[in-house]
Amino acid sequence: MKYDPVLNYINGKFVKSHTTRTLDVISPIDGAPLSKVPMSSALDLDDAVTAAKAAFPAWSKMPIKERVQVFFRYKYLLEKASKELADLCSEENGKTYGEAMAEIEKCIELTEFACSLPQLVTGEVLEVSKGVECRTEHVPLGVVASIVPFNFPAMVPNWTIPNAIALGNCMIIKPSEKVPLSCGRLAQILKEAGLPDGVFNIVHGDVEIVEAICDHPGIEAVSFVGSTKVAKIVYQRATSNYKRALALGGAKNHLMVLPDAIPGMTAQNVAASMSGCAGQRCMAASAMVGVGNVDHIIDKICEEAKKIVPGETLGAVISKESKERIERYITEAESQGAKVLVDGRHTTVKGKENGTYVGPTVIDYVKPDMSVAKEEIFGPVISIMRTNTVDEALAIENANPYGNAASVFTQNGGMARYIIDRASAGMIGVNVGVPVPREPFSFGGWNESKFGVGDITGKSSIEFWTKLKKSTTKWNPEAGINWMS
Ligand code: NAD
Repeated sequence: MKYDPVLNYINGKFVKSHTTRTLDVISPIDGAPLSKVPMSSALDLDDAVTAAKAAFPAWSKMPIKERVQVFFRYKYLLEKASKELADLCSEENGKTYGEAMAEIEKCIELTEFACSLPQLVTGEVLEVSKGVECRTEHVPLGVVASIVPFNFPAMVPNWTIPNAIALGNCMIIKPSEKVPLSCGRLAQILKEAGLPDGVFNIVHGDVEIVEAICDHPGIEAVSFVGSTKVAKIVYQRATSNYKRALALGGAKNHLMVLPDAIPGMTAQNVAASMSGCAGQRCMAASAMVGVGNVDHIIDKICEEAKKIVPGETLGAVISKESKERIERYITEAESQGAKVLVDGRHTTVKGKENGTYVGPTVIDYVKPDMSVAKEEIFGPVISIMRTNTVDEALAIENANPYGNAASVFTQNGGMARYIIDRASAGMIGVNVGVPVPREPFSFGGWNESKFGVGDITGKSSIEFWTKLKKSTTKWNPEAGINWMS
């Protein structure tokens, strides 16, 4: 193993789990064993909750302007460690170094936003009747948990860490068991930035620890990012235990391409969106609906897809099982009459034969009832459907149960607005293949892509990570009893 066994991080120290159950951490790049990760138990969680609870009074009482000083330093330290973090992230996840570096840059942007929180959580005050004042304050919840997926080992943790902690909460994070290494490095950086022990804790594991988090009476709120199947389980279990919950799920994002779209720019965006991070992005373009005659644009999409080089400009997918699943989808679509224009099956990279690569794949003449049109593939595959009208394209987009993102490629502003108004997704792009809102705008989908109220990042996250305290005060005793006292 290249690295020592992964440890939990509790009360500012790396500690062994109470369990002996472990899983191997394998690099998707070349199949090299990297480490072993413990499958922690409820006992480990008890330790983490105890540490977080003990840290909460001092941390939550510290003024927010002081708390964010930790995140100014964290941002600087992330910048300093960015190359090393990008290497680690790429190694455990399989994405290219460039993609991993973009992920770290996004962590920095997320931290910048957290540093601006004092400006955004000022509360409200008003004299509501003579000498009587009402005031609201955003108060932290207490111990909160964050459960994260494999596809962004550093960025998705940073969707929650800086905001939840800067707002005065103490956090327990559960990284994906497939990519547990980056999060440990983040813990070291937070400590170096001056975060007091116990404010941030890590418990590694799988189903058992997630269930324990949803059930633990000491945890006030649970945020989850992952597949829709598990988002539903976590949302239901956490809320049935009366916790606040926000669970982001999977996606099937549709790009609508109109005949007036700029061919070169559209093709580059479609190819980049479907293949970036090997298609393992919840914002990846997975289905394209060509409206009218867009053959000239599809030709260019194929040209762009063929320029992408597995192992160089295209990373690996997370596991052997993932590669097999993606290839099964392609084969099934082909057997049902779809045409595979660019075929990424059976891709190997010289010198990295044990890596799990799928080449970029373009499938045309897909029918809306095929699995490749309906299900999340989570690989570098675009399924193209054809319609005669924009309304038919919208009907296909609206019928899919997810609702993370949708995009339209056109030069017609009126048509773009028509689609923005009617697409059933939380994040819409116009001539943008990956319409991720940048800070301070918040991130979050609709429908089966998100369960719970509000979004996970940006201003919206303030409502999730805090509760409102309303105080009514009267300092004019001479007023006696009036209608409100
Ligand atoms: P996943 O749902 O398999 O795992 C997510 C987390 O849940 C992991 O920490 C995992 O250990 C845990 N988990 C897995 N199975 C569980 C179970 N049965 N009970 C309790 N916990 C369980 O997701 P993944 O494969 O790690 O990530 C890919 C998925 O995440 C895709 O569907 C992708 O679209 C989605 N995702 C969504 C967003 C978003 O913003 N909506 C962002 C990133 C990823």
